[in-house]
Amino acid sequence: MTHPSVQPQPAGAASQPLSPTAGAALAARLDVALAAAPTLDARLRLSADHISGRVAFSTSLGIEDQAVFAGIAMSELPFDVFTLDTGRHFPETLETLETTEARYDRRIRIVFPDAKEVEALVARDGIMGFRQAIENRKACCDIRKVRPLNKALAGARGWITGLRRDQSAGRSHVPFAEWDANLLLIKLNPIADWSLETLEAYVEANAVPVNPLHAQGFPSIGCQPCTRAIRPGEDLRAGRWWWENEDGKECGLHNRPKTQDAAE
Ligand code: SF4
Repeated sequence: MTHPSVQPQPAGAASQPLSPTAGAALAARLDVALAAAPTLDARLRLSADHISGRVAFSTSLGIEDQAVFAGIAMSELPFDVFTLDTGRHFPETLETLETTEARYDRRIRIVFPDAKEVEALVARDGIMGFRQAIENRKACCDIRKVRPLNKALAGARGWITGLRRDQSAGRSHVPFAEWDANLLLIKLNPIADWSLETLEAYVEANAVPVNPLHAQGFPSIGCQPCTRAIRPGEDLRAGRWWWENEDGKECGLHNRPKTQDAAE
């Protein structure tokens, strides 16, 4: 499949990393093309067709990522799908992982943090040390999430996410595609413009398995000790690190261009 506003990369460029200039230019063209594509499937295919080399999809197993994974699996696209096992997930999240693999008959690669780094962190801060100081929390997210993510994305040319603009004020300007100057890849957000209603309609229409915690007041699900249900009217991400103030409640997985701060 091709799109008139995007020219495929030349054959033979599959293993060549993009230069920052070429990467930024391709990302800009893809941003326009994905915006014009009518469906998730079309946006995913555009991404596959125009990025040479490995395209990774990091799934948190939340409802957004479940929808994106369903699109990838139903289209049989050869993306490198992986998830980060922080060691602190809800049991429901791990059950969702297994259910999803069975539903689509496709294995999801699990990336673990470095055991020695986790041991040193817990020895220093304690098993719940992330609640004692923002710096501790960022250190925990760095070791359990950011470093494993960087390892999993090393060498990838594209990175697909399930970010949506109306998830939080901090995500209100998420583009469909952008050049990540730190990771040297094109970051793709194929459901950036989806409302919650659009997302839920897609999930229902395609019988996408979702984490049962979503129905219990958890629109955003992270590690168990750092996530609570939200109250009516609260921001969708208000249940994440709720003991901190509302500024900068990201884990570092999606805000690298602005800061090296750790942790979602
Ligand atoms: S969300 Fe909490 S437990 Fe999970 S990595 Fe971050 S600080 Fe650690």
